[in-house]
Amino acid sequence: MHPHIERVLCTESEIQARIADLAVEISGRLGDEPLTVVGVLNGAVVFVSDLIRHLRAPLELAFVSASSYRGGTTSGALELDFLPKRSSIEGRRVLLVDDILDTGKTMRALMDEFRGNGAAEVFGCVLLDKPSRRVVDCGAEFVGFSIEDAFVVGYGLDYRGLYRNLPYIGVLKPEHAAAAASN
Ligand code: 5GP
Ligand code: MG
Repeated sequence: MHPHIERVLCTESEIQARIADLAVEISGRLGDEPLTVVGVLNGAVVFVSDLIRHLRAPLELAFVSASSYRGGTTSGALELDFLPKRSSIEGRRVLLVDDILDTGKTMRALMDEFRGNGAAEVFGCVLLDKPSRRVVDCGAEFVGFSIEDAFVVGYGLDYRGLYRNLPYIGVLKPEHAAAAASN
């Protein structure tokens, strides 16, 4: 285990087994119709790349980048820096894939954006859900693990840009996560 990690919430084998099951759930609900899978950069990159290898429907892969506005506003407005081309969304069924559902603002804003751009249907899929942190009304149709309110890293999730390459999900030791709560 990485020396900065205090404890592991989801091991590598638990994550891989859950993703295989999630893919069965997704295929069972969405069938074999064409799909656009949209991963949210950067955190969902590891998850989405493992997930799509279990999906059998013909799919396009696209990415979006969303970040909270910084500096003097607590509105929670999101800046969408990088969007899939319109033809990947318009009239298509979209599976929006993020690493974690926290306040729900990211998922809510992106679902609204894709519906506004004419997606036929939008489904949400997250590896992790922290239901106790929700501030906007938003859920995901497909959830890997529901977890406690702790700041986690690994398997795509970072703290100050680090730890994305860990194959498991863990909680940082307090001395390595001074400002994690405000991240
Ligand atoms: P939301 O908009 O739901 O509040 O936030 C979702 C985004 O916040 C995630 O895509 C992720 O980037 C970040 N986030 C929320 N909780 C955590 C966490 O525990 N660890 C890390 N590394 N990022 C988190
Ligand atoms: Mg994110």
